[in-house]
Amino acid sequence: MNCSYCYIPEYNRSNQKEDDIVILESLKLFIKKVETEEYQIGSFCLHGTEPSLMSPTALSELVNLVMTHRKKYNSTNHTVAIQTNGLRLNAEYLKILEQLIEDKKNIRISFSIDPPKNLHDKYRNKSYDTVIENYEIAYNLGFPVAILAVITKDTLQFNKEFADFMQSQIDRKKEYGNPYKVKAKFAVGDLSLTPDEMVEIGSYLKFRGLLQLFQSLSPGYCIQSGNECNWFEFDIYGNSYSCNKAFLNEGVFANWKNDKFDDIIRKRKFLYSNILQSEKCSNCEFEIFCNAGCPLDRWQSGDSIGLAHDCSLIKFVFQTLLDNNEDIYSFIDSNL
Ligand code: SF4
Ligand code: SF4
Repeated sequence: MNCSYCYIPEYNRSNQKEDDIVILESLKLFIKKVETEEYQIGSFCLHGTEPSLMSPTALSELVNLVMTHRKKYNSTNHTVAIQTNGLRLNAEYLKILEQLIEDKKNIRISFSIDPPKNLHDKYRNKSYDTVIENYEIAYNLGFPVAILAVITKDTLQFNKEFADFMQSQIDRKKEYGNPYKVKAKFAVGDLSLTPDEMVEIGSYLKFRGLLQLFQSLSPGYCIQSGNECNWFEFDIYGNSYSCNKAFLNEGVFANWKNDKFDDIIRKRKFLYSNILQSEKCSNCEFEIFCNAGCPLDRWQSGDSIGLAHDCSLIKFVFQTLLDNNEDIYSFIDSNL
């Protein structure tokens, strides 16, 4: 696919996928080490490059392995999530998953879809029709599905079409509980909106009653923890990264095959403790909800240096709530 905003660095974008057996053996080792060191797996998400490059048989085995671990600790309320471009998840692939995964609710499939079609096709290699078709198949087969959309500069020109699509999925969520999640985030880098443009799209989505789309206004995301974010990304070779934002050679901070998890957790805790945060944040009444956002996405220059990438949107939304005497906590809690 080679999508424009893929996190994978140029130097390994064209690497071949490893054999499925290597992936599964690595997972078995990971689970064994977790259990030996008396930890448990919490949230578990497979994502980019593209996890569905695995065969459906291997993916099913992977899900069953993680769920077997969970059963040992009675933590089956957690499942396995996958963030996917959705291209390979056609009827044939999904039906094999349906047959081989012990319970299809054990896999949550989050599709990367950037409506409307012309924008998705522009940045995601003309894949819109196929992805929508596969999304609908997964939905109709009863897999828990979600949508994660990226908002770019271009989205501004198609506010209405973007909102219409997301609204249709939120309506489904309200009526059927599936998709279980419909969220959006801003692109960073060249495709990023300016702070004023973020407010512009925020105003429109507020008018449409769709502010719950934004990850940064929803509960439970790592970004709200600022420098104390606590996500881990482990690859099959042993490399440990903070997350996909640091999926680079320089982002490796530990080796899960060699290091004790106690040490990995300690190192991760302080990994971003010294990342610059604007002094404006310490006087901001919304800091408790924002914590200057993702430490790797903050503005790097000018007046905004050290502010959250979407500071302008957060301030706009929370200030509007205050002006209307609405409660910010209730607003966030209702954005699940
Ligand atoms: S660096 Fe950003 S995206 Fe990564 S875990 Fe921290 S807050 Fe989340
Ligand atoms: S809203 Fe802006 S100023 Fe306030 S804490 Fe977040 S980044 Fe800092």
